[in-house]
Amino acid sequence: DTSGNKSGRFMLKLSGEAFSGGGGLGVDPDVVHAIAREIAAVVRDGAQIAVVIGGGNFFRGAELQVRGMDRARSDYMGMLGTVMNCLALQDFLEKEGIETRVQTAITMGQVAEPYLPLRAARHLEKGRVVIFGAGMGMPYFSTDTTAAQRALEIDAEALLMGKNGVDGVYDSDPKTNPDAVKFDALEYGEVLARDLKVADATAITLCRDNNLPILVFELLTAGNIARAVKGEKIGTLVSD
Ligand code: UDP
Repeated sequence: DTSGNKSGRFMLKLSGEAFSGGGGLGVDPDVVHAIAREIAAVVRDGAQIAVVIGGGNFFRGAELQVRGMDRARSDYMGMLGTVMNCLALQDFLEKEGIETRVQTAITMGQVAEPYLPLRAARHLEKGRVVIFGAGMGMPYFSTDTTAAQRALEIDAEALLMGKNGVDGVYDSDPKTNPDAVKFDALEYGEVLARDLKVADATAITLCRDNNLPILVFELLTAGNIARAVKGEKIGTLVSD
């Protein structure tokens, strides 16, 4: 369960794919606006929210590598893609009246602060949303791992993983197998042993070693971010 650490602070990992709407390239402002409204509501209710957004709606390093590109360079392209998602979300959060700061692991002073964990904590205490962009700033990592690491560093009580089009963790792909069974709860070890699609193994291991609970839930269902923050029984909870 999530009882260990009640900091009132949450790390929200958003699927980059969700930002594109139909799964294509780029950002659908209507979708980002809807997500921003949901985040604004929980912030107004007093939750402290930090956000990491994936980059699957722009570039995935591993996919570009298969097409012949250098892996590290294509990973940097992937990281830069996440920053565009951050700016889009920042814009709609600010329109909702929520102060928002973007902090990036790759310095780009005109658009974002550098990643400064103590400063991020101060922003959160003041009710600002902090969005972490450009992943870890290192090739061969993922935004899932970034979300886990940042969650630990800012002392979040849980990692809330909002997925696009799936409402939890299943024993097989529910999009192709109608008999797929959803888990309500899982242990980190089971996720790793069965290679379940929660996050990459680096992220899961980091959460397991530091006892950070992960809630996997459907991102675009109205009210779900609030339900996740309140600890309602939605999705799949991964803990020990
Ligand atoms: N990426 C990286 N290091 C990081 C975070 C992300 O190299 O710390 C790159 C990587 O190429 C990845 C892309 O950024 O494919 C987009 O990130 P994301 O984790 O969203 O990939 P996805 O889960 O969509 O495959």
